[in-house]
Amino acid sequence: MDRIERKAYAKINLGLDVLRRRPDGYHEVKMIMQTVDIWDLLTFQKSGKKGVFLSVDQEGIPTGKENLICRAAGMIMGKYGISEGVEITLNKNIPVAAGMAGGSTDAAAVFHGFNELFGLSMTSLEMQQMGVELGADIPYCITGGTALSEGIGEKLTQLPPPPECSLVVVKPDISVSTKFVYENLHADQLKEHPDIDGMAEAIRTGSLTGITERMGNVLEMVTIKKYPVIARIKELMLDKGAENALMSGSGPSVFGVFKDKDRAEAAAEGIRKEKLAPQIFVTGFKR
Ligand code: ATP
Repeated sequence: MDRIERKAYAKINLGLDVLRRRPDGYHEVKMIMQTVDIWDLLTFQKSGKKGVFLSVDQEGIPTGKENLICRAAGMIMGKYGISEGVEITLNKNIPVAAGMAGGSTDAAAVFHGFNELFGLSMTSLEMQQMGVELGADIPYCITGGTALSEGIGEKLTQLPPPPECSLVVVKPDISVSTKFVYENLHADQLKEHPDIDGMAEAIRTGSLTGITERMGNVLEMVTIKKYPVIARIKELMLDKGAENALMSGSGPSVFGVFKDKDRAEAAAEGIRKEKLAPQIFVTGFKR
């Protein structure tokens, strides 16, 4: 096989808590991760020309070593002594610098893609152990679905999919640096923490209300302080019938959970009219 395609799905955080800042600078987190049906498409083509060549259909995304795709590819090729060339194309659809793990999920797709293209027989665990060296969200992105993520993101507990519902995901026209948000979070001063264990239990028992009433993200306080438009979008979602709305990851994407697609479509239309954000998706959980 010389050419394969692979979809790389985005994630949202139904809940995100930060427990503490470790002495090595990493933050210990406790998050509920959920794959959503918004994806990038990666194509891998073996090539006679040595090296990794990445092309991206969107401006502003690095195509060299700063791209997690190239870093993952380089890591795998080094470990397995692959000397053949590979051309990779990325069709970007996931909002960038948005809190939706766009780069991490692309890197995870590289692990799966190379595994298949070169018949490497890497297990999920092996891919996750390599992936965490490049980014804390990559181990989760290797398996996807619904998961409780702990440690720095490497300790994963798979959960059943939550009940069916619709989502509206809104990405305002700002890019948020994950590093900035964590640097400005004072984990030891947090007074309130979302009930992540309770949410995991609500997922296990299939209670959508149990999930939505526990949605919380401690990073909101940092990002919303800098970008109040996020709070405005959350309010709009609630006004327009969302069960609840939350910022994903370090932001600025906001998602609203709706009981059905008609309500979600109507809310998206209403939010579009406010002209607060250029990217608005009506989507759902990817099972
Ligand atoms: P996370 O949710 O993991 O914090 P994010 O959604 O906030 O991620 P990304 O979309 O991964 O952020 O992009 C953050 C930065 O990483 C971008 O500004 C870009 O320069 C760089 N980057 C590296 N690899 C990629 C990639 N494959 N796709 C998009 N951006 C990438």
